[in-house]
Amino acid sequence: MGLIEADIAVVHGRIVDNFRIPFGEDLHFKVVLIPGFSDGHAHPQVVDGGLRPGVLWRDSYDWIENRDLSVDEVMVRRDLGLASKLALLTFYRALLEGTTLISLTGRLAANVKAWVSMTPRPKAVMLPTVMDREGWTVGEVKRDYERVSMMVSEGLTRLGVFVHSIRLAGRETIAEAVGLASQRGGLLGLHMGEGRPETGDFKAVFGEPPYPSRIVPVHCIDDDVAAIGLQCVSCPLTNLLLYGRTRSSLAGVGSFGSDWPLLLGTVPRHLPIIAGHFKEPPDSILRIATIGGYRVYNMPPDGDIVGYDDSLQKILEGRTKPKFVTVKWETAVYEGTLTSNGLTLENIEKAIVEAVREATEKYGKGGMPYIPKLPSM
Ligand SMILES: [Zn+2]
Repeated sequence: MGLIEADIAVVHGRIVDNFRIPFGEDLHFKVVLIPGFSDGHAHPQVVDGGLRPGVLWRDSYDWIENRDLSVDEVMVRRDLGLASKLALLTFYRALLEGTTLISLTGRLAANVKAWVSMTPRPKAVMLPTVMDREGWTVGEVKRDYERVSMMVSEGLTRLGVFVHSIRLAGRETIAEAVGLASQRGGLLGLHMGEGRPETGDFKAVFGEPPYPSRIVPVHCIDDDVAAIGLQCVSCPLTNLLLYGRTRSSLAGVGSFGSDWPLLLGTVPRHLPIIAGHFKEPPDSILRIATIGGYRVYNMPPDGDIVGYDDSLQKILEGRTKPKFVTVKWETAVYEGTLTSNGLTLENIEKAIVEAVREATEKYGKGGMPYIPKLPSM
């Protein structure tokens, strides 16, 4: 039996010096995170955000109606091969960036297919999206659930449903989604208050607590969701890119989400934006960015460790990637490469660019999506 030793550890959001924990071999790091990062909201099939440099939208409804997509997103989701390749790249990127838990919306069958094909795999919350639009109905999600329920093992995943938003799903759809969520794992996510306050609409549709499922609102730019007993998953980077603004405080924020992990990386890539915007002490930000998502989704954090040979400051600046990652004590990343296939973050980033090109060639409407350039880790 060996020991993992670290000069500094962030243990469930608390910064401690000279940390050690038993492990199968002796390892030393400057910093370890216990658990790793959690990404509380990610669309693994988004290859185009409809972003245009210099263009801002009023709210999510304005964006979804008026955005100018280069790629047909319904067709990307229907293409199980491509959709699962995109999900697999999302999972690989997550591990290589130190994200040990990720919550995915999008196409359930594709996400599960990718997830079971890899080992070790990050912990995952699967919340397939429903709304009243072709390609996103509750019936389609139910069919996907029937085909994947045997494939999902216990312990590393939790399941539920993601209602796209209150205005894009009628009451009947929401009632069906609530029923399906409570049968399938008891989690219900939804975009809420993405540019316009919606707690009033929420109460009118969902009523008062207790709810049959754990409800997780995402974005909540203006809404005080704590007032209705909920914890928000905030996505500061896409809020700033789409609407030019985000929440002003972290009160009521339980977790951060990357929203578009293929385009923008997972949560640790967003830390400099988060730290710059919220001006909160590092331990508050790190608590939300690590254990936060586990608490929001009630996922066990045991055995999830991320080790760095760099300072905490560089981690907060998003300028360093982990050397070592375990999920449930299994080593997923060693010396910065995936243990399953030897690939690095640079390899995966290249593969993502290729996959976006493939999606654009197959289902493009002319033009390439605009992808903001990330600073390298
Ligand atoms: Zn979203």
